[in-house]
Amino acid sequence: MIDFRSDTVTKPSKEMLDAMFSAPVGDDVFMEDPTVNELEQFAADYFGMEASIYCSSGTQTNQIAINIHVDQGGEVITNEDSHVYKYEGGGIARNSGASVRLIRGNRGRLTLEDVEQWINPDDVHFPVTQLVSLEDTSNRGGGAIYDFEEIKRISEFCRKSRLPIHLDGARLMNAMIENKIDLKEYASQFDSISLCLSKGLGAPVGSLLIGKKDFIKQARRVRKVFGGGMRQAGIIAAGGLYALKNNVERLKEDHLHARALETELSSLNWVKEVVPVDTNIVVAILNDTSKRDVIINKLAEMDVKVMAFGPGMIRFVTHLDISSTDIDETLECLRKISV
Ligand SMILES: *Cc1c(COP(=O)(O)O)cnc(C)c1O
Repeated sequence: MIDFRSDTVTKPSKEMLDAMFSAPVGDDVFMEDPTVNELEQFAADYFGMEASIYCSSGTQTNQIAINIHVDQGGEVITNEDSHVYKYEGGGIARNSGASVRLIRGNRGRLTLEDVEQWINPDDVHFPVTQLVSLEDTSNRGGGAIYDFEEIKRISEFCRKSRLPIHLDGARLMNAMIENKIDLKEYASQFDSISLCLSKGLGAPVGSLLIGKKDFIKQARRVRKVFGGGMRQAGIIAAGGLYALKNNVERLKEDHLHARALETELSSLNWVKEVVPVDTNIVVAILNDTSKRDVIINKLAEMDVKVMAFGPGMIRFVTHLDISSTDIDETLECLRKISV
């Protein structure tokens, strides 16, 4: 089975499992788990930020960040396709009682002009704008990467306006590997960053929320309230630590694999177009939108799993459990399909 549905389907490697089985553990709610502490310190140093906290998921890290940055009735500016809005179960409203200003943007990304024009004036009619939330890479945008210059412009504006800026960096390392931007300089543009260890980095569980010491101290309280305080979490954190130390550089391979799929898909007569591939996500837009499920089923019969990604669209995500041989086999399977 070649599973392209998501980069969350990866299984821990033998080496990662060894690290997990032998990890020293303690009670992390007492902050006594040496492995969690090591991961949090390692991540903070890696990003050049003051502190970080290990959480159960990327939804949790995003929701904690929003809860800290925004008051009840405040407003978050984000892209209409952003994960924080679209795929977190209405968490902004449910957990934080906050309002959202959704912006169309381009492949999941915003510009400074988008942000600027939607800052509400200081007038009782409007919710108070309290947070800008960006996503890099953008999932719905087909793995699109932000132009770092745009991030700097938005960040500078937010700093001047005393407006916090959060990054949903679930797949940030994919962007970093592709752009060759200095991670610390990049990270310094944000007040908080969420990073998934359980996507392309290949850990079984967990995300990190990274920011200033005070912010992370608040995050520890909110995480507990959200039911996310874990005890001997070192056993899973060890997988995350292993992932961050060993699986970043290799993301390049996933991007090459995604480009190979892009090239093949672009040449097929049942594909109308492929969203330009920036990282590890490939979105094919079909000529005949009614054939989406037929194609998905034909691929499944050949042991290739892909995901429906809206009307007439299918998504392939490459990751560390997909080898070059798997890619070659998939290209063969794609050629065999006629609809
Ligand atoms: C996967 C993902 C998350 C977090 O998802 P979890 O499944 O909760 O870990 C957040 N943002 C983006 C853009 C994602 O793709």
